[in-house]
Amino acid sequence: MEYTMLGNTGLRVSRFGLGCMRFPEGRGDAVRMVRYAIDNGVNYLDSAYVYKDSEVITGEALRDGYRGRVVLATKSPIWNVERHADFERFLDEELRRLGTDYIDMYLLHNMNPGNWEKVRRLDGLGFLDRMVEKGKIRHKGFSIHNTVAAFREIADAFDWEMAQIQLNILGETYQVGLEGLAYGAKRGLGMVIMEPLRGGSIVSNVPDEVGALLEGFPERRSLAEWCFRWLYNMSEVSVILSGTSNLEQLKDNLRIFERSGPGLMSGEEMGLIRSIQDVYEAKMGIGCTGCRYCMPCPQGINIPEVFQLYNQYSLFNKPLGDSIIYRRNMVELGIGADQCAGCGNCKLHCPQQLDIPELMRKVHGELSQGA
Ligand code: SF4
Ligand code: SF4
Repeated sequence: MEYTMLGNTGLRVSRFGLGCMRFPEGRGDAVRMVRYAIDNGVNYLDSAYVYKDSEVITGEALRDGYRGRVVLATKSPIWNVERHADFERFLDEELRRLGTDYIDMYLLHNMNPGNWEKVRRLDGLGFLDRMVEKGKIRHKGFSIHNTVAAFREIADAFDWEMAQIQLNILGETYQVGLEGLAYGAKRGLGMVIMEPLRGGSIVSNVPDEVGALLEGFPERRSLAEWCFRWLYNMSEVSVILSGTSNLEQLKDNLRIFERSGPGLMSGEEMGLIRSIQDVYEAKMGIGCTGCRYCMPCPQGINIPEVFQLYNQYSLFNKPLGDSIIYRRNMVELGIGADQCAGCGNCKLHCPQQLDIPELMRKVHGELSQGA
């Protein structure tokens, strides 16, 4: 296992962090898996109030001396917070679930513009500072599935110490993306990466063309290994979270992260990643290049962001998580595709000649399903 410093926190963390969202079914197996990870060098654990049973199982795994061996991260359920006092009430519940007196890294979960507004209105930032003073948390962070503009605004507004963002080989410009990664790292934030395999979607149903590229490359590695390698090659990345759901996957990840320092990838290897990205991009449903010539939309719709979300959704067999992100981060804030008034201004400026108003109807219809 390789280790790095988590931004300016002074915490030394393993490059591989165990995501505690997708545990094995049996509680005993889950506890054994967490302890196996720790015994083999993983020292960063990521949980959340809203991950079913995660905090309770993690707490069980951390008994018998394991607690002191890890940097424990968990998240506040912002959705459920209605008044200032709720922040500490939920934190106290999390401490009880985890069987600990303090959280090493406490995150405000899913900072979309609506949650961010709530955090400011209910003084969630003051809450974080007071909890540091009380010793209930040691460090302050946030997670985000939103635009790089939202990320910059939030990152600039407080003395955060880390940020958790989604990033993988098929999402260089999706959500916070590479631009946000560089921005956060430059501010001294520890940058923790979630969804390195897009919840496993990238490595299930691998297109034949990608399989052929992997087979034809001199160095044999699985697609999962290339995905992790692409991430840990970047010096801005501190920790990569992987939510293994059985011991076999965990052992494979431990092997992959044996050598995981930055700067490992050769030019040929980066070329392979580019070729893999090209295959997937050719399969994207809407040919939006993200040029933003269509912006701003008078209805407040972030048109390229909506299309990126839809492309990811259609590429990965329509995961429910994307529908939920669409509802929470766009529809509930009044900036979903359903707000399109059909004015057609955007269409006039689109170099790809996309019928944007028509696509807005299609995207909303599909992304709304199941959410
Ligand atoms: S057609 Fe719809 S998406 Fe395009 S600018 Fe008008 S309201 Fe916005
Ligand atoms: S102008 Fe067209 S290609 Fe450019 S961001 Fe807007 S929809 Fe996408």
